[in-house]
Amino acid sequence: MNETVLTMGIDIGSTTSKCIILKNGSEIIAQAVIPVGAGTSGPSRSIIAALEEASMSISEIQIIAATGYGRNSIKSADLTVTELSCHAKGASWLCPGVRTVIDIGGQDCKALSLSAGGDLENFVMNDKCAAGTGRFLEVMAKILELDVSDLGSLDEKAVNRVEISSTCTVFAESEVISQLAQGVDICDLVAGIHRSVAVRAASLVKRLRTKEPVFMTGGVANNKGVVRAIEKELNVRVMTNPQAQLAGAIGAAIFAFEHSLKRSD
Ligand code: ADP
Repeated sequence: MNETVLTMGIDIGSTTSKCIILKNGSEIIAQAVIPVGAGTSGPSRSIIAALEEASMSISEIQIIAATGYGRNSIKSADLTVTELSCHAKGASWLCPGVRTVIDIGGQDCKALSLSAGGDLENFVMNDKCAAGTGRFLEVMAKILELDVSDLGSLDEKAVNRVEISSTCTVFAESEVISQLAQGVDICDLVAGIHRSVAVRAASLVKRLRTKEPVFMTGGVANNKGVVRAIEKELNVRVMTNPQAQLAGAIGAAIFAFEHSLKRSD
């Protein structure tokens, strides 16, 4: 290839806005995660932050692809791609050969089954209930007066994991408040909260035939406590990556690159 092709992938979720700038379909040259999503300033801030990191202007980007819940709000996008396709593509890029993807975002949880060639074969999702999603973790972190980013390391210190019996976020919230009032150790509570999310994610994965390697995407992949709890529930190794939250944006940027190749045919 003689000419450098720069593409942008933007993933507008319910909770965060992510942007990637990709060079020639193979090298990430800038990335941004802004902790507010669709309907906020997050989408434009994520684009500006990625362009600043790359010291570029938007006119230097050949193709822009948008994905995620808020993808249709990106007026500068040349194409839009579904979240499922982008997470499958981005996960395969971060973890070549991946066969099962677990994506836990701010308001939903998805399990994807991929072919050996990386094509999406099947999926199941929960987008009806906050339990088992990042929102559940955010609600619980607030009660515990913690940030969601603190949960993973506290889980490591748990000795007697507390069972959270309520399957509904609102009832689980009351249950955690009551446990706190009884003086239960915070680390044991956090481990119980993580198990509750893991049980829900694992039940989705089990509805597909779990094929390894298993890779986790979405912001909750940053929480090592949840990753470990899912491993225990499924009894398989669950891989992740520091860029797992950006998988959808990476997938979109790769679709944009593939689109640019078709255009130049
Ligand atoms: P969406 O794409 O649906 O907007 P994300 O995939 O970006 O959401 O995931 C957002 C969720 O990720 C948050 O609700 C939070 O639970 C979790 N999260 C984000 N950053 C971190 C972090 N540093 N540590 C732990 N959890 C995180």
